[in-house]
Amino acid sequence: MAFSFFGGIHPKENKWYAEKHPVYPFPEPDILVIPMSQHIGAPCAPLVKKGDPVTMGQKIGDGQGLCVPVHAPVSGKVKAVEMRPHTSGTMMMSVVIENDHLDTLCPDIKSRTLEEAQALTPEELMQIIREAGIVGMGGATFPTHVKLSSGLGKVDTIIVNVSECEPYIVADDRLCQEYPAEVVSGLQIIMKVLGLDSAHIALEDNKPAAAKALKQAMEGKDGIVLDILPSKYPQGAEKQLIYAVTGRQVPSGGLPAAVGCAVFNAGTCKAIHDAVYDGMPLIRRIVTVSGDIVMEPKNLLVAIGTSFNELLEAVGHKENPYKVLSGGPMMGAAQYDLAVPVIKGTNAVTILGQKNKYIVENARCLRCGKCIEVCPMNLMPVLIYKAMYTGDTKDVMAVDLMDCIECGCCAYTCPAGVPLVLGFRAAKQRVRDAQTAAKK
Ligand code: SF4
Ligand code: SF4
Repeated sequence: MAFSFFGGIHPKENKWYAEKHPVYPFPEPDILVIPMSQHIGAPCAPLVKKGDPVTMGQKIGDGQGLCVPVHAPVSGKVKAVEMRPHTSGTMMMSVVIENDHLDTLCPDIKSRTLEEAQALTPEELMQIIREAGIVGMGGATFPTHVKLSSGLGKVDTIIVNVSECEPYIVADDRLCQEYPAEVVSGLQIIMKVLGLDSAHIALEDNKPAAAKALKQAMEGKDGIVLDILPSKYPQGAEKQLIYAVTGRQVPSGGLPAAVGCAVFNAGTCKAIHDAVYDGMPLIRRIVTVSGDIVMEPKNLLVAIGTSFNELLEAVGHKENPYKVLSGGPMMGAAQYDLAVPVIKGTNAVTILGQKNKYIVENARCLRCGKCIEVCPMNLMPVLIYKAMYTGDTKDVMAVDLMDCIECGCCAYTCPAGVPLVLGFRAAKQRVRDAQTAAKK
């Protein structure tokens, strides 16, 4: 039974721009920039230096603790190991690779037969998933092997997230239409690791072709249920999806495992399949390149490290963009330097025209309460905004700022144009900085 979470909105989906375009392999560029941090946790330390030759799939960075390795997406030579712009808006240590276009495969990469793969133990599978550098590919980028190991014995419900509720983005929709067997196979590996014989695949009712393809791929595979949910933003947010599928509410500050759930993106499932059966690390991903001024929207299979500039050139745009976002228009991060590379969590590059410019100078709250009605986390956005101005972290904590999932529903709905979510992001960063400083 599907539940409807509180609040939420129905923004214009604009998926028609790219939804009919099959996934097309984007030619690997001459130069690729591989950031040492593409996941939540400690960044990798580079394992190569300038001048070193590299092969496709070779590990080029790794670290300890909450960390997954990064790999060379092509073969070639290391041109530099230096700080480069990153989609997070910071500079990040990166390995710059000059592509030799020979695609010489790393000798460590070996495929497995069905029998070999099925004989692997849960521990061996988790190690393979770690070594392949797999993270949450819906944008969260949490290391998958850690989610699996921390869920052992706690999780009774697995959910594959194909909600993809952000406007314009259709990468997971296309993935499930074109690679449904791999998605289901990856899910079966997750089920084996967690020792469960049932799981859910949840998608919104605006993806009938993906639902049909998944249904076919699920035939004869017991225990997997397809949940078709009514479209509503932000259905793809972990806590909202868990509620929609199970009716369970993740407590404030808690993780999905607190209510026995673990959520995996469909792309993550395919990456797990590729790692286990093909021995392939996560070096490519599907990216929707779309937007209202794009001439030829596309879904591209892109090598990690390809610059946004190259993707913009590939689709063309009718006017000077107002904004280029990593992700969609609701939760995506605006990019100020288009030399930034595609990383493991980049599901879309959204290019928006000048008509999206909506800035109200000195916007004042009208006290209409609309932001409260739509907040899916049951927060009081207007009160958080007010509390921000005292500059005291205790005040924003008292109105549960840290529970905000930055979905943007409040800002989207606000008739006065108050920049709610922008302010919340900055305030959350100030709280984190204060917490880090207090620990020192
Ligand atoms: S951005 Fe935060 S405060 Fe605004 S609606 Fe989303 S969760 Fe609520
Ligand atoms: S929606 Fe905007 S104007 Fe209305 S209460 Fe919230 S912040 Fe104020």
